[in-house]
Amino acid sequence: MYDVIVIGGGPAGMMAAVNAAKEGATTILFEKGNALGRKLSITGGGRCNVTSNLSVEEIIKNIPGNGKFLYSAFSIFDNKDIISFFKKSGVNLKEEDNGRMFPEDDQSSTIINAFIKNLKKNKVVISCNSSVDSLIVKDNIIKGVQLTSGEKIYSKAVVIAVGGKSIPTTGSTGDGYKWAKEVGHTVTPLYPTESPLVSQEKFIIDRTLQGLSLQSIELSVVNPKGKKIVTHSHDLIFTHFGISGPAALRCSQFIRQVKEKFKVGHVTLELDCLPKMTKDEFLSELLRLHKEEPRKSFKNVLKLFIPERLAEFFLNNLGIDLQAQLMNVKKDTIVNITNLIKGFTFTVTDTLGFDKAFVTGGGVSTKEINPKEMSSKIVSGLYFCGEVIDIHAYTGGFNITAAIITGKVAGSSAGKYTKIPF
Ligand SMILES: Cc1cc2nc3c(=O)[nH]c(=O)nc-3n(C[C@H](O)[C@H](O)[C@H](O)COP(=O)(O)OP(=O)(O)OC[C@H]3O[C@@H](n4cnc5c(N)ncnc54)[C@H](O)[C@@H]3O)c2cc1C
Repeated sequence: MYDVIVIGGGPAGMMAAVNAAKEGATTILFEKGNALGRKLSITGGGRCNVTSNLSVEEIIKNIPGNGKFLYSAFSIFDNKDIISFFKKSGVNLKEEDNGRMFPEDDQSSTIINAFIKNLKKNKVVISCNSSVDSLIVKDNIIKGVQLTSGEKIYSKAVVIAVGGKSIPTTGSTGDGYKWAKEVGHTVTPLYPTESPLVSQEKFIIDRTLQGLSLQSIELSVVNPKGKKIVTHSHDLIFTHFGISGPAALRCSQFIRQVKEKFKVGHVTLELDCLPKMTKDEFLSELLRLHKEEPRKSFKNVLKLFIPERLAEFFLNNLGIDLQAQLMNVKKDTIVNITNLIKGFTFTVTDTLGFDKAFVTGGGVSTKEINPKEMSSKIVSGLYFCGEVIDIHAYTGGFNITAAIITGKVAGSSAGKYTKIPF
C-alpha cells in the first residue's frame, strides 16, 4: 500500500512523483518501459527544449490547445520555477532563439538525470518494466491500480501521467484515455498535431526543393473561401513528402480543422518568402534594380532576397531563362515573380499521423479537471497531468513546460490529499 501511485515516467509523472513525496506521501512511480523519460530523451533533437524564457502570457499564447486552463497551474509553479528547479539540481539552462531553453550541455539525458536525482532524494520507489492495466475504483473513490501482470497495488491517490499517443514506440500508447473513459471522464477527439504536412504537388513529388530550409518566412492556411485563417512566422523546410519545420508544424492543427469543416481533400497554403518587405517595397526595389543595373542577371538579383534554389524554382515556374539579364526581362514578369515570392500558393493533403506527430491534440476534457489541483471532478483521489489532458502547444518548449507544471500541481495536490484524515 502506498499513499500515491504515479503512472508514467515522462516529465509530468516524474515531476508529480517528486512533489507527492515532498508532501510526505509514500510514492511509487510505475513506468512500463525499461527506463524513465524515453520520449524526453528524443526531444529537441536530443537536446531537450525543456522550457521557455518568455512571459507566462506569451507562453499561454503558444498553447493553442486550452492554454488558458493552465493559468492556475502557472500561478503555483511557472517557467521561472522550472529554471530554478533544474538549477537547484545542478543543471544550468541556456536560452536560444524565441526564448527556447536547453540544458547547457545540450544533452536531454542531463534533464532526465536531474529528475532521477530528485526522485531518489525524495525516496520515490521507481518501478520500471511495470505496465499498468487498469484503475481500481470503488464508489467513485480511487483505490489503486492493477498491473498487466495481474498484481493489484493499493493507494490513496493515483496520478495518471501516461502522455498522449504520438510516437508510440516511446511508450506513449494512449492508455490513459481508456481509463479516463472507464471512470466516466470525457475524452475529446484525438488527432496528431505539431506534425509535418504532406503534399502531392509536382515540385514535392519531383523533390525539386527537398532539403531547402527557409528562415523567418510567413506561412498561412487559406480556407476554401479564400480567407487566411492563420499565419505563422517561423522557419520551414521542404522534405520528400511535403513540408516540415516550426511554421509547418504550427499550421498542422488548422489543416485538420479546414479539412473537417469544409469536407475537402486538400488545403491551400500561402508562403510569403520575404515578409520583412511589403509587396510594394519589394516590387519597387526590383524595378529600381531593373533600371539601374540592367546587365545583372535576374537570378543574381533575386539571390539578394531569397535562396538561389528558390530563385531558380520560381524562374523555372515562370519559364524564364536562368541566365536572363534584367534588361531582357519585361516589367510584367517582374510583377509576376514579386507575386510568387510574396504569395506562393500550394496545397497539402494531410498531416503525418501519430507515429510522426510531436504532440497529441485532444485528450481528457479540461472541463472535468480542477485546474488548481489537477484533480478529477468525478473520482476522488484521481489526478491527471501532462499530455493525457486535452492540452497541446506549439513547439518551443511549451509542451514540456505544460507537462512539468501540471505534474508539479497534480503531485503536490495528491500528496496533500493523502494527508487528509479519511
Ligand atoms: C520527437 C519529439 C520531440 C519533442 N520535442 C519537444 C521539445 O523539445 N520541447 C517540448 O516542450 N516538447 C517536445 N515534445 C513534446 C513532449 O515530448 C511531450 O509533450 C511530453 O513528453 C509529454 O510529457 P508527459 O509526461 O505527459 O508524457 P510522456 O513524455 O509521453 O511520458 C509518458 C510515460 O508514460 C508511460 N506509460 C504509458 N502507458 C503506461 C502504462 N500503461 N503503464 C506505465 N507507464 C505507462 C510511457 O512509457 C511514457 O514513458 C516532443 C515530442 C516528440 C515526439
